[in-house]
Amino acid sequence: DVIQGTEEALLEHRTSQHSMLAPFTAGWQMKAGTPLVIERGEGVYVWDNKGNKYLDALAGLWCTALGFSEKRLVAAAEKQLSTLPFYHNFWNRTSQPTLDLASELSKLFTASEMSKVFFCNSGSEANDTQVKLVWYYNNAIGRPNKKKFIARQKSYHGSTLISASLTGLPSLQNGFDLPVSFVLHTDCPHYWRYHLPGESEEDFATRLAENLEKLILKEGPETIAAFIGEPVMGAGGVMPPPATYWAKIQPILKKYDILLIADEVVCAFGRLGTMFGCDYYDIKPDLVTVAKALSSAYVPIAAVLVSQKIFDGIAKLSDGYGAFGHGFTYSGHPVPCAVSLEALKIYKERDICAQVRKIIPPFQDGMRQLAKSPIVGEVRGVGLVLAIEFAANKETCEAYPAKWAVGTHFAGQCAARGMLVRVAGDIIMMSPPLIITPEQIDFVSAQTFTLNLDGQ
Ligand code: PLP
Repeated sequence: DVIQGTEEALLEHRTSQHSMLAPFTAGWQMKAGTPLVIERGEGVYVWDNKGNKYLDALAGLWCTALGFSEKRLVAAAEKQLSTLPFYHNFWNRTSQPTLDLASELSKLFTASEMSKVFFCNSGSEANDTQVKLVWYYNNAIGRPNKKKFIARQKSYHGSTLISASLTGLPSLQNGFDLPVSFVLHTDCPHYWRYHLPGESEEDFATRLAENLEKLILKEGPETIAAFIGEPVMGAGGVMPPPATYWAKIQPILKKYDILLIADEVVCAFGRLGTMFGCDYYDIKPDLVTVAKALSSAYVPIAAVLVSQKIFDGIAKLSDGYGAFGHGFTYSGHPVPCAVSLEALKIYKERDICAQVRKIIPPFQDGMRQLAKSPIVGEVRGVGLVLAIEFAANKETCEAYPAKWAVGTHFAGQCAARGMLVRVAGDIIMMSPPLIITPEQIDFVSAQTFTLNLDGQ
């Protein structure tokens, strides 16, 4: 807007807005200058700067698995900061926490053998790294034309150029000239919305697997390098795969020699009641992306787990070039590695998976009761991830008019009741800290059940 009037008015206008170009925030919200400022956290709770307390039912952004006040993680960071606050990992130099974390992660992942770990700072960077590794590997083994990637509609893989292209959500691509051309998108495995009349979950999975095969054949299998998927789709709307989905997808990838990348950024480290989403769904990937709960989000870190086969190719080609020319100043930064090592220790000591498995039934079964409401289309989820999707028509899945902003309306009601959730269109999503107690789960259910479900 053009600001008219005195210099004071201009100054006041400028100071009424904050200076942050905020991620995933609309321009009008940034201009309004009234963000929710979170000031402190304890356990599963956070407080804003006006003293309001919220149970953070999204664990930040699906990430603070151990809540907001785990002293051991703070102590690990302090210890590392006062011993060696930084060292890099270029040119065969490193630090001990970095080596130890790589070794811990490669041992922890057992669904398939992962012998090497490459460190990044975010899930997006890690997924960009995945693409580069796969290309490098295919060049190494003499398949220079096998470069395309298949991802799924409504998947979320990050917001950098390549990871936003892999992501199957137009909201990350609109205005950015994305996706890039080597990325193809296949069906979203959301049974409720996309199954045909009378089609069972298993039949739906069969149809999706057939569609994947058709896409591969249409493009030419010799051009398709890899398939990337979240074991359970998260940010796109929490969509657990239909029964038999992964069992049907994997043989097709094998048949055409297409690598499988498991994007475990949300699922890893206990969220489904298993250490990894791959354990839950019996997925045997060639490469894995982890982030978020790796450090319980206390410090930024992500990692790519690499199988021996891929590493052997990369090592061979890098010898020819003199180096593997990829990495970041902060790849394997010792502070996040030390914090992550402590987080992994805590997950093991407290048997976080067993703890989560106890909470899953009251969380999932309790919330499913909401599906009886006439305005709720579906309540879905697995482990400690859940979505409530509102719908104008349960049978046809017809959405409410966009201008009603139904999801935002209910997320606002949740906040007013002391609970933070994620909203995307007509969907509200939850992914609470893994340390949430049964009593706190009861609070989440109780608040959700008192939402004004009679509409706007
Ligand atoms: N992959 C998945 C499955 C995610 O959910 C996310 C973030 O939510 C990412 C990748 C991107 O991670 P980051 O935001 O750390 O770049």
